[in-house]
Amino acid sequence: MPDRTLDLDAIRSEFPLLERRVHEQPLIYLDNAATTPRPRPVLDAVAGFETNFTANVHRAVHELSAEATDAYEGARKAVATFINASRHEEIVWTRGTTEAINLFANSWGGSNLSEGDEILLTVMEHHANIVPWQLLQERLGLVLNVVPVADDGTIGLDAFLEHMTDRTKLAAVTWTSNVLGTINDVAAICSAARERGITTLLDAAQAVPHGPVDVQAIGCDAIAFSGHKMYGPTGIGCLWARHELLESMPPWQGGGDMIEKVTFERTTYNDVPWKFEAGTPNISGAIGLGAATTWLRSLGMDAVSAHEQHLLLHALKLLRGMDRVRIIGDAPHRAAVVSFLVDGIHPHDLGTFLDRHGVAIRTGHHCAWPLMDRFGVPATARISMGLYNTTEELDEFADRLVRVIDVFG
Ligand code: PMP
Repeated sequence: MPDRTLDLDAIRSEFPLLERRVHEQPLIYLDNAATTPRPRPVLDAVAGFETNFTANVHRAVHELSAEATDAYEGARKAVATFINASRHEEIVWTRGTTEAINLFANSWGGSNLSEGDEILLTVMEHHANIVPWQLLQERLGLVLNVVPVADDGTIGLDAFLEHMTDRTKLAAVTWTSNVLGTINDVAAICSAARERGITTLLDAAQAVPHGPVDVQAIGCDAIAFSGHKMYGPTGIGCLWARHELLESMPPWQGGGDMIEKVTFERTTYNDVPWKFEAGTPNISGAIGLGAATTWLRSLGMDAVSAHEQHLLLHALKLLRGMDRVRIIGDAPHRAAVVSFLVDGIHPHDLGTFLDRHGVAIRTGHHCAWPLMDRFGVPATARISMGLYNTTEELDEFADRLVRVIDVFG
């Protein structure tokens, strides 16, 4: 099958990292769920700020500061357009998904939850969407109500409904699992939550890079995502939340930029979203993330999704055809992420051997310890595809995996 509508040669030529050799082999990078390589438009945008108009934002009257502020706020608009936010003031810059969830937990959670209130989570959450709630649980005496995962790595809507009670105040759910690839039916979950007056926060770290995202159509209250998993820089990400919700939330960190007026008697706060952005922000990161979203839009997220689904089917076919390989999870609706085990070979050994052959995969618990426990495994090997990967690379990976299996005997 052809690689759909993406011009893969042109796309691959945008990534300097793909020219690298690792252990004298051409790099095959299949760890995109951990972080993606950066394409030239992102590198150029970051270098443009760092080289040509380095200045702090929102602060000075001089030309460089005006240019930096325009680029920085322009990036916010680009990200808002990318997820179809109704206004760009709904985008709050954070360091990434983890910080976005911590912001929401501290600000919204700290002011809306009290003892006995329940938060609905799932067994497939990343630690970033577990531990902030446990910290709040300790402080406020909350109950974490955890929805189980079925053997095939899915969670039916019924399971979510069964766990929504009169005390449930928040459903904090991953959109796409970073381990199983499972894509949860977030529109249905959010609709059920809304009917019951439950606020919804989606961990969209693994959803936003892989297909069209429309926060208004999904009907969620907030989402969190990271720049570095969507071809942008590290150290930048976003909390998106409905404007009224952000308006109702107190600031969570104090300092410069988040204030309107400061006196020792009384301090007042800036408007949304700046009231959540204390201190000098990651300006180059924001500009780089804005460039990443503009670049992704130019490719077309439907085409990205179609290509990645094609890669997924190819990878599943290859892995299913191998003796001793067991794939964890079999969700019908899933992203191009596959966790697997090879009977008799530890995932770390697989990862190390593949690395010697220039193939980068991830092994370990993937920051999803409860999910590992659920499937009774300490670790898995995981391949995760990006929009620039090819079926030829997957064939090469499979070839090398077979060689590892043969070596270990
Ligand atoms: N949630 C999910 C589903 C993830 O895959 C990750 C990163 N592996 C995170 C949250 C945390 O993202 P970050 O480290 O960029 O904050």
